[in-house]
Amino acid sequence: MTRRILLFYKYVTIDNVQEVCDWMLATCTGLNLKGRIILATEGINGTLAGSVEATTLFINIMEAHPLFKKIDFKDSEEDGVHDYFPRLRVVVKKEIVRMDVDPQQVTAKDAGKHLTPEQAHKLLATKPEDLVVLDGRNYYEARVGHFEGAVKPEIQYFRQFPEYIDQNLEQFKDKQVFMYCTGGIRCERASAYLKLKGVAKEVYQLKGGIHRYIEKYPQGFFRGKNYVFDDRIEVKVNNDVVGTCDLCQVPYDTYTNCLNASCNKHFIGCPACRKQYAETCSAVCQQLVADGKVPVRPPLRIAKREFCVVE
Ligand SMILES: [Zn+2]
Ligand SMILES: [Zn+2]
Repeated sequence: MTRRILLFYKYVTIDNVQEVCDWMLATCTGLNLKGRIILATEGINGTLAGSVEATTLFINIMEAHPLFKKIDFKDSEEDGVHDYFPRLRVVVKKEIVRMDVDPQQVTAKDAGKHLTPEQAHKLLATKPEDLVVLDGRNYYEARVGHFEGAVKPEIQYFRQFPEYIDQNLEQFKDKQVFMYCTGGIRCERASAYLKLKGVAKEVYQLKGGIHRYIEKYPQGFFRGKNYVFDDRIEVKVNNDVVGTCDLCQVPYDTYTNCLNASCNKHFIGCPACRKQYAETCSAVCQQLVADGKVPVRPPLRIAKREFCVVE
């Protein structure tokens, strides 16, 4: 049976967050939905998997709730083979995407100006001299696909983004900064963080993220693949290959995880290298697996990475 995955978020002040959490848990349990939901006083961030009927009902229930109207639900189909969301987790945290910045101090209310895919496309086409295109994602996401000419911060976690901004303020001085991420959730506060520094001339963010832009412009200014946090890992947008194999540096853009389960490195391995190193990330891991000294990951392309609700 085909299952559908819903990705959604909304920045909205939730005063009675624990109460909403209990309600959400009961609602999802009743609909047999699996996945993860993070609630905070600043809003909601969720990834849910379930039947088409259940996910449709969920959308209707949310639309009827005074706090959760007008959410832009993004959906994708599960492949029906892997069960990536065996459980349901609904939790209360400080932030809906961990940035390690007090949500009272940097809120989505201070965010950069939203540009629709059409407006963003126009801006990128006119290429103003003072435009800086800034990727708001982690480096492993940006390296397989990004907007043309984008600055790609070398960070591994979103919570490193504020530090990156602090150390590179000069780069944004008197510039128009156009920021983007996968679905928009990270840019809401990341753009606010940059804006509050008061150095950039203007800060924009892409509404609906890469997800909505490539729907509209598959042959637009986004090159390569869109990295996503579900079982597809990367979604092909156009024929450009912008990544390279971590082992031999040939152009390649498909991630895999090391067969050595205790390593589980998430890396780009071209077919030749994956064959040479027997699905591991290195000669060391290959030897450990061959000697039976380590457990091997299940035969999935991606083995229990942090399947996060980042987006
Ligand atoms: Zn290779
Ligand atoms: Zn390894």
